[in-house]
Amino acid sequence: MTALDTNITKLNGYLERFRETGIPNRIAGQDVGGSEGVFQTTSPVDKSLICDVAHGSVKDIDAAANAASDAFAMWRDMPALERKKILIRVAEGIEARAEEIALCECWDTGQTIKFMSKAALRGAENFRYFADQVVQARDGQHLQSPTLMNITTRKPIGPVGVITPWNTPFMLSTWKIAPALAAGCTVVHKPAEASPLTARLLVEIAEEAGLPPGVLNTVNGFGEGAGKALCEHPKIKAIAFVGESRTGSLITKQGADTHKRNHLELGGKNPVIVFDDADLDRALDAAIFMIYSINGERCTSSSRLLIQDTVREEFEAKLVARVNNIKVGHPLDPATEIGPLVTQEHYDKVTSYFDIAKEDGATVAAGGIKVGDEGYFVRPTLFTNANNKMRIAQEEIFGPVLTSIPFSTEEEALSMANDTDYGLTGYVWTNDLTRALRFTEALEAGMIWVNSENVRHLPTPFGGVKASGIGRDGGDWSFEFYMEQKHIGFATGQHKITQLGAL
Ligand code: NAD
Repeated sequence: MTALDTNITKLNGYLERFRETGIPNRIAGQDVGGSEGVFQTTSPVDKSLICDVAHGSVKDIDAAANAASDAFAMWRDMPALERKKILIRVAEGIEARAEEIALCECWDTGQTIKFMSKAALRGAENFRYFADQVVQARDGQHLQSPTLMNITTRKPIGPVGVITPWNTPFMLSTWKIAPALAAGCTVVHKPAEASPLTARLLVEIAEEAGLPPGVLNTVNGFGEGAGKALCEHPKIKAIAFVGESRTGSLITKQGADTHKRNHLELGGKNPVIVFDDADLDRALDAAIFMIYSINGERCTSSSRLLIQDTVREEFEAKLVARVNNIKVGHPLDPATEIGPLVTQEHYDKVTSYFDIAKEDGATVAAGGIKVGDEGYFVRPTLFTNANNKMRIAQEEIFGPVLTSIPFSTEEEALSMANDTDYGLTGYVWTNDLTRALRFTEALEAGMIWVNSENVRHLPTPFGGVKASGIGRDGGDWSFEFYMEQKHIGFATGQHKITQLGAL
């Protein structure tokens, strides 16, 4: 039996229950059907039906928001150490079921087991990390003035909505839900309609770990129904959103009437800038990893390669050889590096750029083809002879597709790097320290790595500028979002109070 066969057998074991009962919503610790019936989730590997999913909308969101509101005071006031223990048990539960999470995620989204086994464990890390922050979450500052002792304190904002996309959905959900729970908020989670499986596993694990009913509620459904209703619900105080930039605009509009606080983690068209003085072998490895891992369905992917013209030919030749060697295949085969794209709609979008590139006058140097028609497979693709004005350089393709653009001077590289609506990440490869400092200072991005691929460190701020988002996650930045700051001033003496109407 091959490793692939073993994984398929295990997956079928894990899916059996979903096939029998479908995926209900989870509200106040109870399984409930969707008010709009069911929708179906299919696998991008072979387009087969996985299971029915409760189709929630306005009514379901209302019930979940009420449950989150009812549970809020109890969760907020639970002693921090008790909340911490529960969150640590959630991390342990994720670790214990990491294989099930990874296999289900791969089948639901097309992501490969090579990367998803680590993503499941990163989910556990998120819970562990924020569990460790629970005790100091409410800490404030003491700001003494001549007449007052001023203190600040933080309080959880209330029930919050978490709306997540389909790329690495489990990891991204934990990235939002763990800090919200650690801050003392209760949560209504609306997972992406294309990837409902692991959101169900997360709420099960959390409740088994002792999370009280109503603290985490999961409502499945579509953006225009359940997602919109969540943004508009008056009992939901904030929305943590991860998804496309244009959806981010809708989130803001929909929440305006109820004065929602929004945290938006949106799209990217991130540059990797390679200067000729860099360690070109490491730059090549990192550039390839950042666009072709996770099927290129990654907000932080380095989808624009800006390569100095003095080394362009050699660099692109090596790139073509490596890209042509990437293994596309069944996502549950541990050797597979790229699996199928998530849905028919996304596959159509990504593959449309193969023609757009040619129409714009670029060269398809590698890939640019579909693989079979059983599932949504494409060859990893490289466009060369491109310029920064082309659509393939400006639009987020969100697949394993890299656009290579030459530059001659640092000024030109900077100007092209910043000539985009987005500003999520940037990757700079140079051994000139002064240039690295100068360049990173001027590069418009929320996160930049120098001589490195994206290596996350949880206490550091995560987020983008421009159309890539508003707000930061990570460390204490997460608590800034999920908590309200409160100022209290105590007079320390008899300071003069201006008297009006005094006789
Ligand atoms: P999407 O915006 O289509 O959907 C994301 C979520 O929003 C889904 O749950 C969807 O149902 C919901 N939604 C859609 N319309 C809505 C509405 N009107 N109101 C409320 N909710 C609504 O995004 P996607 O296609 O699922 O995900 C891919 C996108 O996510 C890419 O643009 C990618 O760059 C971005 N992303 C960003 C980050 C980041 O940290 N910046 C991380 C991962 C993914």
